[in-house]
Amino acid sequence: MTNSLIKKVSSWFKKSQKNIPEQNVQNQRSNIDNFFEDEHSPAKKDEQYQSNKKPSNQRHKKSTPSPKFKSDVLVQVERNDHTISRKDLSPNALKVLHRLQSGGYEAYLVGGCVRDVLLNLHPKDFDVVTNATPEQVHELFSNSRIIGRRFKLIHVTFGREMIEVATFRANHAEDNSNNQSSRSSEGMLLRDNVYGNIDDDAVRRDFTINAMYYTSKGFVIRALPQGLEDLKNKQIRMIGDPATRYREDPVRMIRAIRFAVKLGFEIEPGTAGPIREHAELMQNIPPARLFDESLKLVLSGKGVETFEMLLKYDLFKTLYPQAQKHLDNDPDGFNLAFFTQALKNTDTRINSGKTITPAFILAVFLWPELLKVQQFFMDQGVPSVPAMHQASQKVLTLQAKSASIPKRFSFTMRDIWDLQMRLPRRFGKRAEQILEHQKFRAGFDFVLLREQSGEDLNGLGAWWQEYQFAEPERKQQMTKALDKDKKKRPHRKGKPKKQ
Ligand code: ATP
Ligand code: MG
Repeated sequence: MTNSLIKKVSSWFKKSQKNIPEQNVQNQRSNIDNFFEDEHSPAKKDEQYQSNKKPSNQRHKKSTPSPKFKSDVLVQVERNDHTISRKDLSPNALKVLHRLQSGGYEAYLVGGCVRDVLLNLHPKDFDVVTNATPEQVHELFSNSRIIGRRFKLIHVTFGREMIEVATFRANHAEDNSNNQSSRSSEGMLLRDNVYGNIDDDAVRRDFTINAMYYTSKGFVIRALPQGLEDLKNKQIRMIGDPATRYREDPVRMIRAIRFAVKLGFEIEPGTAGPIREHAELMQNIPPARLFDESLKLVLSGKGVETFEMLLKYDLFKTLYPQAQKHLDNDPDGFNLAFFTQALKNTDTRINSGKTITPAFILAVFLWPELLKVQQFFMDQGVPSVPAMHQASQKVLTLQAKSASIPKRFSFTMRDIWDLQMRLPRRFGKRAEQILEHQKFRAGFDFVLLREQSGEDLNGLGAWWQEYQFAEPERKQQMTKALDKDKKKRPHRKGKPKKQ
């Protein structure tokens, strides 16, 4: 570690110890014991796992002491003092740990997977960190490939599961002799491939609860003492100085919100404080990365809560500025109701195991601006359908400057929008043709959502609800009734005359 890093770490470490009554590790561990036993595990899971083989008390007596561990920033939680059992972990991730360890390297499960297992949640994926370089990891695994430029990583694939392996990262503000790192003028990290040890790696992570390491060598956890406290007290706390860390990587602001909502934690005031004033730094993030991060928010199953938090911290506008504009100018509250209802429906679908397409919610966010731009073109004399197409193009092009939407989603969004023009025009044979449209369901759901949010579409949703399941005879009656209706109305050409 460089001198300045040691200073930084030790000052942060001292600060982090403030909440801990005594500074020795033994006392810290007894806190952890209480936490794990009281709140999460009446019977330790590791014992349950082992009990198939032998009584747990015997195993404890026989368990060999874990290897000596010295660290300036991390404390060790022994195998009997935490609740992580191998059965909670991905066998493939454990294979990766073993292979790296047999190769003579250090290897840990790290981050969200350790945090989530400690909280009795199912980890989304398992990440590994090691002191082997990406090239050395690649040599050990034939089923691996090196990816990334900003952060070089290894993906090791086992069928459908992918284990991400990273090398311990170090801070590098002063040491850039090998051109392995670079920063923008605003302090943002552009490249970060300076390697270090586990201590360096821990303080480079974002939040204290994410700097958690588990090794199958001795089955111990290594974590920041503050991280263990924060896990217990449900706090999202940035490691180091929050403002500096947000400037380094503004995406950490959305991550704070994502974890707070996902885990039901509070963002501690020092971490929450600087978010609003740094929100505009989000515009320096490449739009593709911003989109990936925003997708995680939508797919969290807690979209409504996340949306509310993003609004509260002025971050929603950094992802969807065109949507924010219509929330700032929303006299009857329709847009807010529309967005919220869409997120609510998406959450319900996700939480009941149904599939969703992110295109739907994205189509919702951009809908008010789309209508405005369509109207602009119609006012120039462009008929409504081509006006809609031109508006789609404009709105998507502008969106590409913040969180850019990949084509696989934007095609579906255009279909959904297009169907909003087609679904009301269901005379004659058209209804049957619309029903066969690949995205009919999404377009129809969009109509229902508009109605649910207070828009009067003349019973359009109910009509399609009945029509799609009706017998052929009834279908004919339904379209004929519309034809009659149409004939009764005078035929209008072009725009209605202004009164
Ligand atoms: P989940 O996967 O459940 O969303 P996670 O904590 O695993 O949560 P990932 O995005 O998978 O989140 O990142 C893995 C780990 O990498 C994090 O736990 C954190 O330690 C570290 N990390 C990720 N992004 C950043 C970042 N922008 N700055 C610092 N550390 C980060
Ligand atoms: Mg993860």
